[in-house]
Amino acid sequence: MAAMPEELQALLAAMPDEAAVTVAGRQFWVGHLCGHEVVAVLSRIGKVAAATTTTLLLTRFGVGEVLFTGVAGGLAEGVLPGDVVVADALAQHDMDASPLFPRFELPGLGVATLSPPAATTARMRAAVEEALSAASLAAGGALGDVHLAALGLGKPRVHQGLIISGDQFIHAATRCRELLAAQPAAMAVEMEGAAVAQVCHDFGVPYAIVRTVSDRADDEAHIDFPRFVASVASRYSQAIIETYLRIREAAH
Ligand code: SAH
Repeated sequence: MAAMPEELQALLAAMPDEAAVTVAGRQFWVGHLCGHEVVAVLSRIGKVAAATTTTLLLTRFGVGEVLFTGVAGGLAEGVLPGDVVVADALAQHDMDASPLFPRFELPGLGVATLSPPAATTARMRAAVEEALSAASLAAGGALGDVHLAALGLGKPRVHQGLIISGDQFIHAATRCRELLAAQPAAMAVEMEGAAVAQVCHDFGVPYAIVRTVSDRADDEAHIDFPRFVASVASRYSQAIIETYLRIREAAH
């Protein structure tokens, strides 16, 4: 599942036999990628859109694992544009049924955060490390044509931790401080991950959420967002997903 059309395009171009099935106004692309049967789909923005898409992947298409890639705002210190965050926990920063339930708790589940299976997270982290390795980013490597310096970006660092989701695009330093005060472990903020996690949790299906940091969620996001998405984030996503599938293949 991708958050942006550019990412989906990159994946579709790598699928030799994709065919579209339309359900609920979404195109689900069924085919193969790196020898795996896959369904590629655009989540659309926001938690409800992501939950609907995930539910359809699980019930209509019977997928055995959900992989989500997209961009996010960096919250924790040192989580900078161009870095990648692998979620080992997800929470909804706008869930608040207090005083009936503690703030952030998912009513009925008794917890505020959900975690993907540790093995899935470890595999995704390994895929990110390999896909974005120095060798991959060097001239002649798979991502050797991604011009990080020209975009003002350094070498990508890989982080693992809590990603928070909510139905808001965060673009103010004051909001970042509020979010961090309430959920100090949060590394990045986006709008879909925790919804995907909750649906996968309910269905007992493994999942991984991986995000390339596109901005700092503050007032001075100086990176050219569309250019960043097309030239960096979509390339990272494709490399990460393909590497993940290869690692998974090797493990079986
Ligand atoms: N579609 C617009 C930008 C959407 S940005 C465009 O292409 O110009 C919102 C998307 O990026 C959401 O899917 C969200 O998950 C993610 N995202 C990136 N930075 C974010 C931030 N600072 N706050 C919330 N979501 C962010």
